[in-house]
Amino acid sequence: MSSVRVRFAPSPTGPLHIGGARSALFNWLFARHHGGTFIVRVEDTDQERSSRQSEENIMNALHWLGLDWDEGVDVGGQYGPYRQTERLELYNKYADFLLNSKDAYLCYCSEEELAAEREALMAKGELPRYVGRCRDLTAKERAEFEAAGRRPVVRFRVPENGEVLIKDLVRGDVSFKCDEIGDYIIIKSDGIPTYNFAVVVDDHAMRISHVVRAEEHLSNTPRQILLYNALGWETPIFAHVSLILGKDRSKMSKRHGATSIEQYQNRGYLPEALANFLALLGWSPGSEEEIFSLEQLKQQFSLDRVAKSPAVFDLDKLNWLNGHYIRETSLDRVTEMALPYLEAAGYISTPLAPEEYGSVKMMVAAVRKYLSYMQEITEHVRIFFDDDVQVKDNESGQIMNGDQVKTLMRELIKRINIATTNAIAGDEAKVLLKEVGRSLKLKGKQIFMPVRVALTGSTQGPDLDLVMAILGREAITRRLSKWI
Ligand code: GLU
Repeated sequence: MSSVRVRFAPSPTGPLHIGGARSALFNWLFARHHGGTFIVRVEDTDQERSSRQSEENIMNALHWLGLDWDEGVDVGGQYGPYRQTERLELYNKYADFLLNSKDAYLCYCSEEELAAEREALMAKGELPRYVGRCRDLTAKERAEFEAAGRRPVVRFRVPENGEVLIKDLVRGDVSFKCDEIGDYIIIKSDGIPTYNFAVVVDDHAMRISHVVRAEEHLSNTPRQILLYNALGWETPIFAHVSLILGKDRSKMSKRHGATSIEQYQNRGYLPEALANFLALLGWSPGSEEEIFSLEQLKQQFSLDRVAKSPAVFDLDKLNWLNGHYIRETSLDRVTEMALPYLEAAGYISTPLAPEEYGSVKMMVAAVRKYLSYMQEITEHVRIFFDDDVQVKDNESGQIMNGDQVKTLMRELIKRINIATTNAIAGDEAKVLLKEVGRSLKLKGKQIFMPVRVALTGSTQGPDLDLVMAILGREAITRRLSKWI
């Protein structure tokens, strides 16, 4: 099936949202699975809300997720241009064709007239739709409207009494009654096409084989199919992917937390974690497996395994997946990712000297197992930067009331300062603690716990020898001295 040509067609009116990213990913996976072509087309016909800034943000977010495309605004391609506002001539050409074939007509109704019509229909309990006042205007009536300064829109003439059947790869057969549709606008009075028209002209012109998009567009699809029919074009195959719901089963929105890819990027989620998570929002591998690289997804993805039921956005699962990737990836990468958060928290200032970098790297190694996303690192590394250690809970307080605490602190300070360099390398911390234990006849917890609390304020946290290596002799001495 190498004739697969699919597209992601964002409207650049804001950042890339979870739903859009999922549509992009599914299209990309489908294309890559079949050795087809993935196109990114910018649907910027809503000129007031569209911006180049949003377009750029969306492209950056797609790249960040690991997606690439074969045709699009920035990479070109033989069916370009790929920005709809640069294709207006084409839409006008086909609007003229539909006007000539009488499948479309000029409509001069004003906003006020349309609003009154909607209200009247609703008062009668009918669906608000255009009832066709301008359907059969005479040349004379048109001329009068023109003379009165009215600027027409172009409306599509919906066939009466028909039905439109969508054979959807995900949803099965779905049919819509033409009577409920009402003649819709295809070119606005400013000459700009509406979404439903531009999308058809472009999907045809760009030889799109499959339209894979969110379920919320399902009700647009009959309008698009009617246009394909009127233009004498073959329709692409449709696949409408289910909505994404929040955990409370209402449609995912800002109320449920971050909705844009950029927000997750800024919090320090890894792109492969987010891509893995997005893939599972609606697609399932048919096994219990949950960890998938893009490469594995490319091999396994198929539209047959895209569910009809809504997908539920489970942040805990995303956090779990992300934590997994944070632990699995290289320490250098996580360290690089940590730097901006540490800098923003005022812990470091970049560029770092090599030994500072080494120390940050040790901190990252010590705490990464606790992280769901990188931004959380500032909480976990606080213990390394603040010598003013506060005992965090009762249990820790009791430990520090033990008889031996003072002696223990003195002994450790003495032994730790035998060496002259600040650094504690390799096994040295372990060895030191063992020696202290031997000389004071204390074992295991009796040593580790008080030392840990003195150094970090708590009985829990990263491995003690790592903490000691990170702090170095001077900071350790300062912290232990407080207990003498
Ligand atoms: N521009 C539309 C959107 O962002 C594209 C819908 C489609 O894929 O046809 O929702």
